[in-house]
Amino acid sequence: MQVFKFGGASVNSVDAIKNMASIVSQHLDQPLVVVVSAMGKTTNLLEKIIPGVPKSDEERKQLIEQSKEYHLGIARQLLPNDDPTLERLHELFDQLNKTSSQKPTTYNFDYDQTVSFGEIISTTLISGYLNSIGISNIWIDIRNVIRTNENYREGIVDFETTRHQAQDVINSKFKIKNSKLIITQGFIAGTAAGTTTTLGREGSDYSASILSYSLDAESMTIWKDVPGFLNADPKFFHETIKINKIPFNEAIELAYYGASVIHPKTVKPIQNKGIRLNIKSFIDPTAEGSIIGPFDSIEPLTPLYIFKNNQLLISIQPKDFSFIAEDNLQTIFAVLAELNIRVNLMQNSALSFSFCIDYNEILLKRLRERLENDFRVVYNTGLQLITIRYYNQAIIDQIVAGRNILLQQRARTTTQLLVEN
Ligand code: ASP
Ligand code: MG
Repeated sequence: MQVFKFGGASVNSVDAIKNMASIVSQHLDQPLVVVVSAMGKTTNLLEKIIPGVPKSDEERKQLIEQSKEYHLGIARQLLPNDDPTLERLHELFDQLNKTSSQKPTTYNFDYDQTVSFGEIISTTLISGYLNSIGISNIWIDIRNVIRTNENYREGIVDFETTRHQAQDVINSKFKIKNSKLIITQGFIAGTAAGTTTTLGREGSDYSASILSYSLDAESMTIWKDVPGFLNADPKFFHETIKINKIPFNEAIELAYYGASVIHPKTVKPIQNKGIRLNIKSFIDPTAEGSIIGPFDSIEPLTPLYIFKNNQLLISIQPKDFSFIAEDNLQTIFAVLAELNIRVNLMQNSALSFSFCIDYNEILLKRLRERLENDFRVVYNTGLQLITIRYYNQAIIDQIVAGRNILLQQRARTTTQLLVEN
């Protein structure tokens, strides 16, 4: 059994979906679970219609209409007019309209109930299309398989329950004659009470890994728009080097620092079972790609660069003239944990604590509300966080190129710099 993951960019158009179908059809010699993300930039759009977020109902409706036209435009080109999938997609957009027009409750809960539609819609469309061209498959609602707690927007996975449910729901399907292919959603999951949760942005890789672990997959493959794991993001670098082999632990570190090629939580579950992770190009599906596995070092050994844009640096000072370490850190981390905010870099002095996080307007507002009673809060937006592994000074100078450095940390193999753009 294998697990494949197709991200938003690999299913963002009629041609992309046809290409995906062609890749899938060439790997049906053994059972295959295909995990699919929301199409294109759908999740970004859905984040704008979470209850309480849109500026007006007009804006909300207009965004839904835009998403509906995008999906149905593609569906109509892929499916015959009388295919029941089209009807089903209409129903899903009606439900999305209802969900997004609810009275706001908590941001994280509302987020998951709304944003999860992206994956339900994409898999409905794709499963319907594959069936219509004779690639018969079973659509599974992964919310009945991957179990999390109620930590909305970043559900904590209950691996034991998930493993049992995966065996029950998925393995049992493979026993049905002629069913070799399962299409299911990345990113979303369900609680014991049956409410929807999500696993964090870009979490579909993690979904595929959870399923690989739960089903003892032979291997897992992420299909990407890049040839493999590169030493830098081609969006920022003209010349990149493909890393052919990456040790499990190195991949965890890189993803943690923000290497966008895989979600940070992806590697641990498969490492635990020694399942290899292939990263391959959906543009050139027969090319080698990269393998994350039980290796000793990266190959070839070369500097690695990770850029994170849209960073926010927050510096806080206690108003009561106490030192930052006196109980204050505990208060600050409790607030960060409560709001589910991940810190990308932090530093403290006697009087102030600075930390860098991904910018999010709503979370910044909530954070300030919580902290401004006890602390003086200042912040800078629009920053870039650069991480370099296997660095030297010449490389740092070249990358920073005279830009203002607001924060820097160096360890033996890794340096991180927070710079103004
Ligand atoms: N659709 C979700 C996102 O864009 C999950 C994923 O793509 O992995 O964050
Ligand atoms: Mg995505």
